[in-house]
Amino acid sequence: MFISIPQPVLALMDRLESAGHQVWVVGGCVRDSLLGLTPHDWDMCTDARPEETQAVFRAYPLVLAGVKHGTVAVVTEAGPVEITTFRTEGGYDDARHPGWVRFERDIGADLSRRDFTVNAIAYNPRAGLCDPWGGQHDLQNRILRAVGEAEKRFTEDGLRILRGVRFAARFRLQPEKKTLDAMIHLAHTLSGQARERVFAELCGFLPVAEVQDMLTFAPVLVAAIPELGKLIHFDQHNPHHIYDVYTHSAHVLANTPPDLPLRWAALLHDVGKPDTFSMDEKGVGHFYGHARRSAELADGILRGLKAPNALRERVTTLIAHHSASRDCSRQENDKSLRRLLRKLGEETMHQLLLLDRADETGKGTPPDTAAGHRVEQMLQRILEEQPCLSVNRLAVNGRELMALGIPQGRELGRILNRLLDEVTDGELENEKEALLLRARVLMEE
Ligand code: ATP
Ligand code: MG
Repeated sequence: MFISIPQPVLALMDRLESAGHQVWVVGGCVRDSLLGLTPHDWDMCTDARPEETQAVFRAYPLVLAGVKHGTVAVVTEAGPVEITTFRTEGGYDDARHPGWVRFERDIGADLSRRDFTVNAIAYNPRAGLCDPWGGQHDLQNRILRAVGEAEKRFTEDGLRILRGVRFAARFRLQPEKKTLDAMIHLAHTLSGQARERVFAELCGFLPVAEVQDMLTFAPVLVAAIPELGKLIHFDQHNPHHIYDVYTHSAHVLANTPPDLPLRWAALLHDVGKPDTFSMDEKGVGHFYGHARRSAELADGILRGLKAPNALRERVTTLIAHHSASRDCSRQENDKSLRRLLRKLGEETMHQLLLLDRADETGKGTPPDTAAGHRVEQMLQRILEEQPCLSVNRLAVNGRELMALGIPQGRELGRILNRLLDEVTDGELENEKEALLLRARVLMEE
């Protein structure tokens, strides 16, 4: 087995070996290479102590932020390369942080502390692969397997459970039985993990998730986001929906492009359905106001996970307006679509159409694609006119309105917004004279 290692990384390996140390590339870069993928970074491990590594590379710029845990990052022309002393760790009392880290003399000990067999393979150009846990076999057979005793490994560090979900989806691995059982059995420990790390793992998972992952790992995802729990087996009592809300959401998710805000929106777009359920006399389920309720819940979930504000706002906007484009398609004119476009802006509007399309095809019954097509065409036509979507695109500005005697502040804002409404609705030309004339009338109101 030959792995092609970039020259600057090889140069570091040569230097360490010339100084009498063992050195291997390890983890993600070996796994990716074996899969025929291009690694995004190269991590190395060595028997050299951190101070010995520093001495070998004293001529290089070094980053020493991780030195306490044995990691020295050497900055090369190919970016920083992390070199970590062989180590083991233990004494996890909080399912998060090792109580102790011990430097080791041999690679076998180091590989045994790693999370999954596919991540526990090392490679050296002269020695070849070091793979005591059968990672290569598992990669070939697409198996996700914990290194050693699964229960113990997830008890040490609960975040490994979510890492496993992410790796399974990313590389299409099937979790081996004991590994899956332990992931599910210990999923509850995720509530004790740092929120931002849970969020980061979910962000790695969602863009690569397929329906099967959502189903296989449902208990883990519910442990990470408890609000999803109510969706499982929630019958919609609707002839157009063959799935419960959770399974429907899984399909919608898988039907959207792998864009992070869109995938979060798909995951949570119906999370408010259980709270808004009612049944009519014919036995058909309704969820009045569920988009708004889902957006509220999603806002709380994303705040709880310490998601960046921009992402949270994009996601909740998409959720709050989901299926609004379908309502627009039922109108005889494009007024409501114009207003929606003005409210959301072009980019969010396009994402909303993708979400609504995925929502329609995620019902499990033959989708009504005609409505979606109609809105897409309507939108296309509107955009071709290069519509005026904000007050600063109006052909008058605040100063010109103030010259008419309109006072600055609330009144000026009111009139600008009225003008924009009427221009958006196609009732008024976006042309200076017409706008000034109309502003005079609005002033009198
Ligand atoms: P990615 O491509 O996502 O970076 P990776 O495998 O390189 O994948 P990292 O998080 O960069 O993942 O970690 C590097 C290696 O360190 C892993 O391959 C694994 O061997 C080990 N590792 C990382 N986190 C843990 C953990 N929580 N528990 C045990 N081993 C871990
Ligand atoms: Mg990595």
